[in-house]
Order: sequence, then structure tokens, then C-alpha cells
Amino acid sequence: MAKLQAIRGMNDILPDQTPNWQYVEKCFQAVVRRYGYREIRFPILEQTQLFKRSIGEVTDIVEKEMYSFDDRNGDNLSLRPEGTAGCVRAADQHGLLFNQQQRLWYQGPMFRHERPQKGRYRQFQQFGVEAFGMAGPDIDAEVIQLSASLWQDLGLENYLTLEINNIGTAEDRKRYAAALTAFLVFHAEELDDDARNRSHSNPMRVLDSKNPDVQEALKGAPALVDYVSDESVIHYSELKSLLTQVGVEFTESPRLVRGLDYYNNCVFEWTTDSLGAQGTVCGGGRYDGLVEQLGGKPTVAAGFAMGVERLVLMLDSLGKIPEATAQVIDVYMVVVGGQLAGSAVLLAKQLRQRFPEIGLITHCGGGKYSNQMKRAFNSGARLAIVLEAESEQPLETVKIRHLIDSGDSVSVEIANCGDKLAEILGISE
Ligand code: ATP
Ligand code: MG
Repeated sequence: MAKLQAIRGMNDILPDQTPNWQYVEKCFQAVVRRYGYREIRFPILEQTQLFKRSIGEVTDIVEKEMYSFDDRNGDNLSLRPEGTAGCVRAADQHGLLFNQQQRLWYQGPMFRHERPQKGRYRQFQQFGVEAFGMAGPDIDAEVIQLSASLWQDLGLENYLTLEINNIGTAEDRKRYAAALTAFLVFHAEELDDDARNRSHSNPMRVLDSKNPDVQEALKGAPALVDYVSDESVIHYSELKSLLTQVGVEFTESPRLVRGLDYYNNCVFEWTTDSLGAQGTVCGGGRYDGLVEQLGGKPTVAAGFAMGVERLVLMLDSLGKIPEATAQVIDVYMVVVGGQLAGSAVLLAKQLRQRFPEIGLITHCGGGKYSNQMKRAFNSGARLAIVLEAESEQPLETVKIRHLIDSGDSVSVEIANCGDKLAEILGISE
């Protein structure tokens, strides 16, 4: 029978790789803590309607990429393609938003039915932050600075560049969309089907097109910047000033619109050259209208999400993951003779209680001394504790053997094994 395989675009992360992931997770958690953000967890599955109403009906994500299905009650549900919608739903449902300020972060898997390739998967991991209830550019600057702090901690600050843009208020975009639609209709012959279809329903999405012919046709299209209101321009220039003061470099990118409909005013992306085509590592911006759009009281907001796979790929290819993040086994306990199983579990229990920081594997499954020692060497442990019965008498001594350095083996009484271990491993209690 053919073996079952994982679903295309959904990765297994094996024990060799998980330390890299843990390293990135630890760094992210340290940064959000430093900025006073608190974790929120929300379900992977939500009503499909939630994503349609937030991300937008006429977006790549909702039109082509969602995993949606009817459950046994006939409710239409979707695996979350991103975190903001669920975060807003959860925070609002539990009364965390109205008249309050919240700084929240989340992490977890997201699902999009895209064409799998390097850096683009169908299940992928995101970290995100969402800040609610703060209207000024200071919070925009904060979330951007927070992401910059992470690059610093990961040693990536020279490999990522920040692009920002001002996409105006929802009102501004409505006026711009009308002008853009008129332009697209006039140039309909030069567009592809996708772009033609969106000319009316979501003309700004056409700007995002990856088709070079469409991009060519867009030359001479009205520019959003000419439709952005003064209020938005002031907000944006204050943000730029704050970023400059805090030393976060940026480039302005008038074409940056982002793939989700809920953004307004400032949007940003961090991109890199070191990943090939999938160069966007993090994207975010303000989304002042979203909470109200989802039925909550008006609550302004800003946030970002970053793709962890792309970060891990980057760190790996740049050699930026410290060696020491791999999990260490310190001690491998070799147990020769079935009658010693009881002594072995008891000694192991005492050692784990006394030294909660060390990693200790107890050999299970019996076998010859030489075979067990082979496993001990392969485990990467520094020391082996050997329990071997010389007679039918209760065990009195154990041997401690060095597996990596060339220290001499020592025999110690079982009662002194912990002291000896502390001495060799240099553990101060
Ligand atoms: P892209 O332009 O690369 O498709 P996006 O604009 O769709 O990205 P967002 O929805 O803004 O991406 O998600 C934020 C981040 O999540 C991206 O910058 C990227 O790092 C990551 N990401 C998005 N889609 C995927 C995917 N299919 N596989 C892996 N990472 C992804
Ligand atoms: Mg995408």
C-alpha cells in the first residue's frame, strides 16, 4: 500500500530543525515583552464570513486561497489565512477593545491554498502584533520599531529594508478607486482577465498584479498620492519624523498597497534580497475601520504579521542561528541487567529533581553494554552513568564515563553520584 504523505505545501518540522524555530520564537517573545505586549490565542477555525468581511471579498486570499468547508452542522468555516481578523473578533467579543488601549501579540499557523514554492507554503507560521485604541503615528512608529528590534536581536538588521507608504483614509481611497476604475476601463484591452474583472470590484488590487503586461499598462495610471487628504499626509509625515528620530531607516514606496483591504494611512513591509522571489518577511499598517466593520464600536488599530518560515530560511542561509540553540543532552544512563531497572529509575528521578536544568536520558529496552554505550555516544551526551550489576547484591556503585572529553572514568557510590555529577558538569546549586 502506498504510504500516506503530508499535504503539499504543509511542512513537517523535524527535531533537527525545531531548535531554529525555538530560537526565533524566543527572540520574538523577548522583544514583545520588552514593549509590553501581551499574548492572545484564538482559534484556527472561524466563520468564513469573518475573513470575507475583514480581508475583503475581492482579494486573492478570499477569492482563491482559503480552506473553506461546511462542517457537520452546515456552518461554513475557514482555516484562518491570517491573524488580524481572529484577533479583532476575539478581543471585541470579550470586551477588550471599546474605550481601551491594548497591545497584543499572537503566533501560530495560518493556511492559504497557494502554489507551494520556497518561502511560500499552504500552512505557514506567523508572528503578529496588534495595538488597539491609539490613533496617533506614535503607535505606528512603535510597532515598526518593535519589528526593527527583532531584526537587531536576530542579527538581520543589515539584510532587511523597510518600505512604507501612505494609502490614505477609506474616504480618500474611495475617490481614488473611482479615478482608477475610469483609467482601467479605458485601458481594458491591455489588461489580463484578472485585472479586467477587478477594474470595478477592487481596482486597487490591479496595482498588485504580478503580470508585466498589466504593470506596463498601469504606467500613467492615476497615483494614489494625489488623492490622499491633508489629515493623512500630516499623520504620515509625523510617522516619518518619528522613525528618523529613532534611527529606523525607510524608503517610500508609492506602489505599496498590501493584499488586504482593511488597511489605511500608513502601510509597511520589510523585504530582503536574500530569499529570492519571496522577499517579504513582514507586513503591516493601520486598520482604523476594521473593528467597526466587524460589528464592534469604532476602535483604531495598527499591527503587523511576519512569516516565520521566511525568517528561519533567512537566518539559516546567512548562518545566523547560534550553535548553542540545539537541545543538549548532558547525561545518558546505561543500565546493564534487567534487575537494575528499579535502581535506574530511582537514581534518574533523584538526579532530575536535584538538577532540573540538565537533560538526562535513561536507556530503555535493555541490551548489551556495548550497544548501550553506542547509543550513549550518539546521543551527544557529555557523560554516561553506567549501572552494571556485578552480583545479585543491591547496587552500591555506579561508573561515570566521559563521552566527549577525555576525562577518566570514576566509580562512585550511588549516594554520591549527584555530588560527583555536579562537580564534573560544574553545576552550582
Ligand atoms: P506575499 O506578497 O509574499 O504573498 P502577503 O502580502 O500575502 O505576502 P501577508 O498576508 O501580509 O503576506 O502576511 C504577512 C507575512 O506572512 C508575509 O510577509 C510573509 O512573510 C508571510 N506569508 C504570507 N503568505 C505566506 C505563505 N503562503 N507561506 C509562507 N509565508 C507566508
Ligand atoms: Mg500572498
